[in-house]
Amino acid sequence: MIQRVNSVPAFDIQQQYARIEAEVSASVLEVLANGRYIGGPIVTSFEQQFAAYHGVDECVACNSGTDALYLSLRALKIGQGDEVITTPFTFIATAEVISATGAKPVFVDIDTTTFNLDVTAIAAAITSKTKAIIPVHLFGQPVDMTGLMEIAQSHNLAVIEDCAQSTGAIWDGKKVGTIGQVGCFSFYPTKNLGACGDGGAIITNDPAIAVQLRILRDHGSKVKYIHEEIGVNSRLDAIQAAILRIKLPLLDTWNYQRQLLANNYSESLSQVPEIVIPQELPGGVGVWNQYTIRVSGDIRNGASAKYRDWVRERMQEQGVSSMVYYPRPLHLQPVYQNLGYAVGQFPGAERVSHEVISLPMFPELTQEQQAQVISTLKDCLAYTA
Ligand SMILES: *Cc1c(COP(=O)(O)O)cnc(C)c1O
Repeated sequence: MIQRVNSVPAFDIQQQYARIEAEVSASVLEVLANGRYIGGPIVTSFEQQFAAYHGVDECVACNSGTDALYLSLRALKIGQGDEVITTPFTFIATAEVISATGAKPVFVDIDTTTFNLDVTAIAAAITSKTKAIIPVHLFGQPVDMTGLMEIAQSHNLAVIEDCAQSTGAIWDGKKVGTIGQVGCFSFYPTKNLGACGDGGAIITNDPAIAVQLRILRDHGSKVKYIHEEIGVNSRLDAIQAAILRIKLPLLDTWNYQRQLLANNYSESLSQVPEIVIPQELPGGVGVWNQYTIRVSGDIRNGASAKYRDWVRERMQEQGVSSMVYYPRPLHLQPVYQNLGYAVGQFPGAERVSHEVISLPMFPELTQEQQAQVISTLKDCLAYTA
């Protein structure tokens, strides 16, 4: 038995705040005092800073990553009668926004070693109604954007990158979000660049799309009280922009810490027979929003639970928290019964949904804590080196 030192959380956002508390507080107080709570110079300044970080012309901030995706689809005129291809192994928001526009999500299976869209399976899902593809850079790992863009361009499809978990990740020398027509980001507190509340942004090099996005996020209005289309209220609060402005310059350092932790996990776990470690594609530099392994094996002592759940429970008993992203793929969600998918249709996504465990991952995770996670995990697999 290993000795239990302390408990290790799956993530911890308080430590990060504690380290930048003075700067963040000063920035927030400035907003409180200046009275520009919606829009204004601080939001514009953050938009410029986020665009510059990505080397793109335009950034449109909005209320969440979900809205970033929804507004992008709307700006690209996708709706009723259209189909949009995406992965069934993602957070519901990716598909939910397709449905919200009136379009139909069409799923394509994943590569079980990367958890991302199997780019070679996309072509078979394209019909005359297909208008766009939403690749999701899941857990911070870039999708094979070279292969994906080739297919998209040869079929004249728009590409909306879901970068909610991958701010700062790189594919083939380019930051994710800059490769498709638009890149969508979430500033949900546990994302790589997190606000202290909801927030999101869209980046693009297409000025016409940016104009459309700004109209849609503000009630379909360019000129105040003149409404050209049905939009939404989806603006980034100045207080969140003030916080993000302080945090963005630190993102690369935090991502680097995540990369070190991921390398260490991979080195320590690659030889464990019950574990499959996540694979990175050669062209990608991931930012590890999650470090997600797959486990498979026999449950000792004849327990009837799923092996993955059994392992997690034992880890939790020893003080190590973990998460399951995601326990059920989207094609098998109750809300998508109407799409007519069946169990067995996407074996990759279904298989990993039974096997995944996301281990503690946040930049402030200490070496001691990580060592505890690794030894506890090995112990709970009943593995002996
Ligand atoms: C978090 C997330 C979203 C939604 O972002 P919110 O800011 O929570 O609305 C969309 N897609 C993926 C893959 C996410 O992880």
